[in-house]
Amino acid sequence: MRLRNKPWAKEKLAQYPQYAVGNPAEHKGKWNEVFGNDNPIHIEVGTGKGQFLLGMAKQNPNINYIGIELYESVIVSALDHIIEAEVPNFKLLSVDAKDLTEYFAKGDVERVYLNFSDPWPKVRHAKRRLTYKTFLNIYEQILIDGGEIHFKTDNQGLFEYSLMSFSEYGLLLKYVSLDLHASDFEGNIMTEYEEKFSQKGSRIYRSEVKYMN
Ligand code: SAM
Repeated sequence: MRLRNKPWAKEKLAQYPQYAVGNPAEHKGKWNEVFGNDNPIHIEVGTGKGQFLLGMAKQNPNINYIGIELYESVIVSALDHIIEAEVPNFKLLSVDAKDLTEYFAKGDVERVYLNFSDPWPKVRHAKRRLTYKTFLNIYEQILIDGGEIHFKTDNQGLFEYSLMSFSEYGLLLKYVSLDLHASDFEGNIMTEYEEKFSQKGSRIYRSEVKYMN
């Protein structure tokens, strides 16, 4: 993700607390109050400009979505989409995935989406991959029992690494596609990166895994 610094992003996010949640630790264990209903919550870690979750939120009004993104300068673009579309079931959090347990209690989240996560190809950077075991442990601490991770990428190396990591962690493989766009998977919502890479001819890999507890 090319990062253009937007010094005004923090202030703009603060102007829309109904969409960009500014004090997430206060909602730990009671996110249903933020949405005003008891619908399940699905999060995307590394949501970027939010195109995927915006599509999901429109397609599934009975599911609540939270986009998690490290950079305010990036997530502020997702805010613009939400303001325009006025979707009540899509909120944003500008936080680091490594701190998710500060903001979510066990069972707060039903599903984690990881889309086109940074591949960190060097072995010495493996711990930064969002499918590394420490992150799988963080997701386990906030998911319901039997919660799922749905993962898409164009990066074959990251995909193979992630399948190994899921397997070593003891996750159950529910679905795998080595060519999503040629598969019979229905209802796919494209992310920004997915559009960009598939236009260039890249194959898209997809998997669904489930925690066994
Ligand atoms: N999911 C979007 C898509 O598919 O178009 C964006 C993909 S982009 C390659 C990866 C995004 O993950 C970037 O916006 C990056 O800032 C974010 N990211 C990386 N590490 C993160 C972390 N530890 N916590 C939150 N977001 C993170």
